Amino acid sequence: MKRKYFIHTFGCQQNIADSERIAAYCEAAGMEKAHSLEGANYVVVTTCMIRESAENRVYGMVNNLIPLKQKKLQSNEEFTIVITGCMTGMAVRDKTGKMMKELHRRMPAADQFIPLEEIGFELAPLRQDTKTALIPITHGCNNFCTFCVVPFTRGREISRPFDAIVEEAMSAYMKGFRKVLLLGQNVNSYGSDIVLAGKKQQELKPVYVKHLGKHRIPTLFPHLLAEVAKIGFEEVSFMSSNPWDFSDELIDTIAQYGNITRTFHLAVQSGDDAVLKRMNRWYTAQEYIDLVGRIKAKMPESHVTTDIIVGFCGETDEEFQNTVKMCKKIQFDKAYISIYSNRRGTHAYKHLADDIPHTVKDKRWKQLDKIVNKQYYKKEQHV
Ligand code: SF4
Repeated sequence: MKRKYFIHTFGCQQNIADSERIAAYCEAAGMEKAHSLEGANYVVVTTCMIRESAENRVYGMVNNLIPLKQKKLQSNEEFTIVITGCMTGMAVRDKTGKMMKELHRRMPAADQFIPLEEIGFELAPLRQDTKTALIPITHGCNNFCTFCVVPFTRGREISRPFDAIVEEAMSAYMKGFRKVLLLGQNVNSYGSDIVLAGKKQQELKPVYVKHLGKHRIPTLFPHLLAEVAKIGFEEVSFMSSNPWDFSDELIDTIAQYGNITRTFHLAVQSGDDAVLKRMNRWYTAQEYIDLVGRIKAKMPESHVTTDIIVGFCGETDEEFQNTVKMCKKIQFDKAYISIYSNRRGTHAYKHLADDIPHTVKDKRWKQLDKIVNKQYYKKEQHV
């Protein structure tokens, strides 16, 4: 009898893309897809730990599998639970071994912890979405925003080879996909590692992203985006895109191709300079406002969405009001607002006090949501 796999994915689109590759790996190993957990005997859980609530949902889901596992084992059936994704990534990078011990303790039913790095890109993904092809272009992040676990869960930024990405996009197009979403923790820095390692990439001239008048990083992202746009997709989009690496060359490239998205998700996180500094975000509120201005000047039809954290370590009322002011000024089309939660391993966890009472965080969340998303909700109700 064939082994049957079932994949449960928590978290972002990057995780969904990872699960599509895991599915390809399972099928290459001779397994077939189960349509329910009950019908499976090889369960893979792609985990997320961006917030404590996400982590707790993983523990809850895996522990809920215990009765099913016991039932299967009593009937002499195989039932293997594999944990991968961000939680495993963080645990294998933790040299003290404490995190791995904790994962074993909190998910006693788990049989294996396999880091994503072992999955690789050799196999074509088994795509779940029939319209949009998700294509990872980088893995990991070098930015170390003080609140974020990603550099610890996914490691340093590694770019996939330029040609491999274009080939994957071409193959998705030939299979009938008309939309493509290029994924990375910071797509704007795509290719920095390739250029810095001195590897030539089709004689492409790297774009040097400037920050405060200085060259920050070289990137090949505008070239990659143009190459993918030329394939002929109806829509080419990308995420995530860091405001401080969003170059003028990138704006020009997008403006040049009508099939590249005009909806830009640019996480601002705060509208206050001191908070941005504590978050290790490399821009000021004014620089962010100027960037949005440059995008809208070139492409007036653009929409801008964002992420904001309220109640970050030490956020005063005045600092929060600066975020409110910025939101009123920019009038985001949508903001994903989250209440700050302390994530272990991060700089903020180790060095900054999570000192804003939950009642204050909650009040700020409600106030900002009302201001920023009011318009969005109105639009939604009329759809
Ligand atoms: S750039 Fe994004 S993924 Fe990287 S550390 Fe900052 S918030 Fe996390």
